[in-house]
Amino acid sequence: MDISTLCIHGAENNTHTTGAVSVPIYQSATFAHLGVGKSTGYDYSRLQNPTREHLEKVVANLEQGTDALAFSTGMAAITALMELFSIGDHIIASGDLYGGTVRLFEHISRKNGLTIDYVNTADLDGVRDLIRPDTKAVYIESPTNPMMQITDIAAVCELAKAFGLLVIVDNTFLTPYYQLPLVLGADIVVHSGTKYLSGHNDTLAGFLVTNKADLSEKLRFIYKTTGACLSPFDSWLLIRGIKTLAVRMDRQQDNAIKLANWLKTQEKIKKVFYIGLPEHPGYAVSTKQSTGYGSMISFEVDSEATAIRLLERIQLVLFAESLGGVETLITYPMLQTHADVPIEERLERGINDCLLRLSVGLEDADDLIADLAQALN
Ligand code: PLP
Repeated sequence: MDISTLCIHGAENNTHTTGAVSVPIYQSATFAHLGVGKSTGYDYSRLQNPTREHLEKVVANLEQGTDALAFSTGMAAITALMELFSIGDHIIASGDLYGGTVRLFEHISRKNGLTIDYVNTADLDGVRDLIRPDTKAVYIESPTNPMMQITDIAAVCELAKAFGLLVIVDNTFLTPYYQLPLVLGADIVVHSGTKYLSGHNDTLAGFLVTNKADLSEKLRFIYKTTGACLSPFDSWLLIRGIKTLAVRMDRQQDNAIKLANWLKTQEKIKKVFYIGLPEHPGYAVSTKQSTGYGSMISFEVDSEATAIRLLERIQLVLFAESLGGVETLITYPMLQTHADVPIEERLERGINDCLLRLSVGLEDADDLIADLAQALN
């Protein structure tokens, strides 16, 4: 079945007997037993809830996994994921990552006895050089947030398998619609479901997806024990959002291509980071491993003053954190998403006071260009 069909019919709607086309919201914390030892299959909503279960089946199918766990946020999903590791374990992570993930790794995971080394995971030798006897996993974002670096996921998986390491891929930016990390050899996919999967900037969610029975069992144990599960209503919002994922992704990508090409022509814009531009260093790998380039663009303007003026003048484009929704958002990573990354590290990564990040939405591309043009010039 094509993925656009799976977005709509990705799980059998067998949780009711009424014929309702929209999956019911089972707003129940607990479920009565028919008798001793006679569970309906649902006991308590932290463990499982029929609305959330439907969503999890859809997401597992989209990612071609066998199990998906729906969390209250993306960070809750990554926090639970880190419980797979023990004191003394070593993890290799992409050198450019969402700032909240870096904060978790540096302030919580380290406190819990893990060591994390960062490297541009596009550099296979760099990854290999960091592998040591206590290394347990490679954690990748591809494209990275916000510098849009691309990693050859299959190549890292091949290397990691030779050393028995897990490969974890944050697939938030491209979604299963454009990229299938499990098919490329990864063991676990991470999502901020808040972004493209939800698609409407109206709810927070997170996912872990796997195709390995042992990982699924461990993650389910962590999930029921730590408890950051997605509520029935938010699960329903995600089910609804995912139904239009395919059309949103394609249309947002069309807009992004137009915007990236326009940004390139602007005198006050010095660099454009969009993986769909043939001159992007990750273009060939992207084209090989993904079916699309998505709609995230970072760009560098000529000065801090230009960046601030643009943020203060934009009208249609909203100056807001987050991404992946129908509204076009612009973010100042240095002040927002990556404010907690130490300044030297941030600058080394290219996150300076001239860098802005655009999440291109569903508005008309010419209207977006007109708004950016009046704000820029
Ligand atoms: N992963 C990526 C790539 C993100 O951009 C974000 C948030 O921006 C997260 C994870 C965390 O997700 P959430 O904000 O839903 O907790």
